[in-house]
Formats: sequence, C-alpha cells, structure tokens
Amino acid sequence: MSKKNKKKGHFRERRRIEGRLTTVTPLHLGSGQMMKHPGFKGKDEKDVEVMAVCVDSKKRAVIHGSALKGSLRSFLDRCPLGLEKKESFVRLFGAGGVGSEDCHGGVLEFHDARVIHPLSQLFSENQSPWWDEQRQTVIESHTSIDRHTGVVRENHLFYREYVPVGVVFQFVITGCFSQKDAQLVLALLQHAFSGDKSEGLSLGADVVHGCGKMAWELDKITSFGHKNLRLWLRQDDRRPIAVALTECGKDTYSRSAVKKLVKGFESAPLYSSLSIELKFDAAFLAGMIEEKRKIDGKERNVTVSKKTADEKLILPASSFRGAFRSQAEKILRTLGGGQDSFLLACDPLDRGKRSKNQGVGCWGSIEKIEQKDNLCLICQLFGASGWRSPVEVSDFTMKEKTAVTWLNHRMIAVDRFTGGAGNGALYSCEGGWRPTLKGEIRYRPELLPKGGLALLAMTLRDLLEGDIYFGYGRARGYGSCTWEAEGTRWQEESFQEEVRNDRKYLEDIVVKRLVSVKEVGENDDKIS
Ligand SMILES: [Zn+2]
Repeated sequence: MSKKNKKKGHFRERRRIEGRLTTVTPLHLGSGQMMKHPGFKGKDEKDVEVMAVCVDSKKRAVIHGSALKGSLRSFLDRCPLGLEKKESFVRLFGAGGVGSEDCHGGVLEFHDARVIHPLSQLFSENQSPWWDEQRQTVIESHTSIDRHTGVVRENHLFYREYVPVGVVFQFVITGCFSQKDAQLVLALLQHAFSGDKSEGLSLGADVVHGCGKMAWELDKITSFGHKNLRLWLRQDDRRPIAVALTECGKDTYSRSAVKKLVKGFESAPLYSSLSIELKFDAAFLAGMIEEKRKIDGKERNVTVSKKTADEKLILPASSFRGAFRSQAEKILRTLGGGQDSFLLACDPLDRGKRSKNQGVGCWGSIEKIEQKDNLCLICQLFGASGWRSPVEVSDFTMKEKTAVTWLNHRMIAVDRFTGGAGNGALYSCEGGWRPTLKGEIRYRPELLPKGGLALLAMTLRDLLEGDIYFGYGRARGYGSCTWEAEGTRWQEESFQEEVRNDRKYLEDIVVKRLVSVKEVGENDDKIS
C-alpha cells in the first residue's frame, strides 16, 4: 500500500469520557427567556416573570455542550500554563475566531449534560418555597438597596431560576484523541470542577456570588480502536457502535499522571484570598423567607432566616457583597474625587445620571477592554454591566459542629394614627443569636484596578471595626458584627506592604486634587 493510500484509509482511535457533574452551589445558565411559575404570584395576584434557565425537550434543566466548552476554554485562557500544554489544548479545543487565518476546530466533542439523578425533594424546604421537580429548579429573588434611603428599592426586585445544590448531570466528551490527551482533559476537568474551591471554574450567572460551582467525578473511559472496528465489521448482526466500545478502565489512565497534571494547574494560583470570620454581637437574619406558622392557634406569617441544607444559618454572598460594596462607595466619596474623576463613586442604580458628556461614566455596557478605564473605581472593582468584577465573595456559613441558637422575635406594628397597636399587626421573625459565620473574599490581583486593593483594605478595616451591618433589621439591633483578623492574611507584612503601596497611589491623586482646589481658591481671593 502506498503511503498516500495508507493515509486515506487511516482510522483513528475514538475515545469517550463519561462522568458526572454535581452542583455544589446554585447554578443559573440563563436561556434569555422569561417564564412563569404556577402558584408564584406577586402582591397583586398576577403571575411573576422569572428569568429562566436552559431546559431540554423534557423541560428539565440542561447544560449545553457549547456552554461547557466555551466556559472551559475561557477558563484555560486564564490558566497560566506552559507552552506545551497550551498547544495541546489549542489542538483539543480549536483556535481562532470565524474568518481568522489560523482558525481550526478542536477534536473534542462536548455533549449536552442532562440531569441523571433528579432530586425528588429539596434538602430543606426553607431553601426556596418555589421548587419545581420537573424542571429541577428553585426561584430566588434579588433586590437592590437604594443608597440614599437604605431600603429595598421599589421596582428593582427581580427573580431568577436556579438549579439547586445536589443535582447530578451526566457529562460526555467524545472525539479522536490520544490517551495522553485524555489525561490532560481529565486533569482539566478535575481542576476546573473541584467543588467550591476558589481556583475552579464557575458556570453561568452570579459567579461573583459564588454560584455555578460544580464537582466532577469520572465514571468511565471507553475507546474504539482498530481491533474494535475489525470485530465489529465481522459481526453478522451489527449492533450500534456504542456497544462495541471497550472500557479502558480508570487504571489505564494513570491516576498519578492525572494528579501530577492537576498539581501543575494548582501551582499557579489565579486568586488571592482572605478568609473572614464574622462574629455577630446580637441577632442576625438574612435572606428572609416568609413562612406560615400556627401561633396561639392562629396562622401567622413568620419571617425566617435563610438556611443551608443542614439547617444552619447563612449570609448569602450577594447580601455580604451588597453591604460591603455600599460601604466602599461611602469611603470613596469621602476621599473627595471630583465629578470627572474615577474616584467619585457612581450611584449603581442610577448609572445614567453620571455626567455622560464629560467622557467618564458607568452607563451602558462595556464592549471593549479599554472602556473599562472610564468606570468609577467602585465599578472597576465590583463590576458593571459588561465588566465582571475581579473580586469574588463566597457565602458565609457556620462551622459544621456549632449549633444554632434560634431567636424568636415578636413585634407589633403601631398604628400611626391612633398611637395604639394596629389590629392584626403582630408579626414575628426568627433569626439566629450571635452566630459566627465564615466566608472568603478572593480577587484576581492582575485584574485589580490601581487603588483597588487599597479601597478593599479600607473597607475591610471598617469591617474589622464593626462599621458594616449585614442582613435585616439594623434599626432593631440586628446584623452588627466584627471580624477577628487574628492569624489571617490580613496581618501578614507582605499583604500590608502591598496595601501601603497601592494606597500611596490614591493619596497622590487626592493630594494633587486638594492642591488644585486650593489654587483656585487663592485666585478667587485676588479677584475679590
Ligand atoms: Zn461606577
């Protein structure tokens, strides 16, 4: 056989990697569509619109293969890998955009990941009252806080559908790739979907609140080579080719080789992280859920704190982030940046108001990376539309073995007209008493704007001093806490040194600005 013919008839071994992806934190892979949930009505008894997740033909949540491939590929771009590995991944995932010269497809085929073990019920009813077994989703509400009044802003409430924790998807990759490639892919999956580790990949929306974390587990790897082909061709009743695949066994893919490859990923961390332990001095209630309970023989609405699957208190990442961001805004405003300066924090709910004609601002959506510099420091640090925040926050939860001390608080609303207790105005809420909640702030150092680390540190100092309140009912004595920074990275000299250098940058700008204000003032004197 000539060399040419040999190439023509060349059969390349095919492989199939099969495993499971389990949600470790809630997942929202949006379909871009709105949906309605039966039984979920607004105040005016009208159906409420909810941002829906992608579903398959059975109307069940699905993770599309293209979404998995895209996320893994952009995750790889962020991983500081050696050249050899980079080239392998380019071959596996493909490269270049449509129309570019060196564009080529990858050899990996990503299948849609479907739910294989649907949950029949949620771990805890309190996680969300709107559980949909068919879709395998729950609904979460999101609010924004008005910076002037400090209360939830009207008409800014929106709802999103999530796949809750513990749903298992089957994930399959096929293609013509070698055993060595398969090891590389396994290492990537193991590193990217490593549970709630900060280094891993997050899928879908709300990743800055820790959503979209998955855990990967390999089921089996099968291959279809020359031998399988010959055997299959010889069969009289040729069954589907999938039946003829040979299981390679996990051991043929040397576990130690995969482990070593994963170590290679881990040795170049993407994030710097600070662990934070919040010690609440009194009552705490966050992520409120309305529950109907019988009290004194009457059915009453009780506002209860959100709980984790094991009935522990939780401060959701989004609640922490909201309060933290708003404190950072306050600090930045006191630094006295001018109207045209990136040191003036915008009102995140009124971005349009920031002077558009002065060439700076936080309105619209960032489309090119250079536009990022037009954002105020807060938006650069905590994100704006089109710009994902380099700062991520995890949920804050209790340590496993600590018990919750629940607190029942009954209140009565006073009728403003008569001055007496309003009729039927008794309400109760159930929160936790003096819990300690643990969480983490992590950031990508190379993506932090100049002055960003200093602002983070200043906000953290306020946290240390107990100036930031979390959750519900500040006026009722809820949500006050301090942070014990003892033994954390905060106290390390190297971290403090980094902060000092960054703060110098901010101070220089502020001093320059003060000088220029003074000069204007002196000139004014002369004129008068
Ligand atoms: Zn802004």
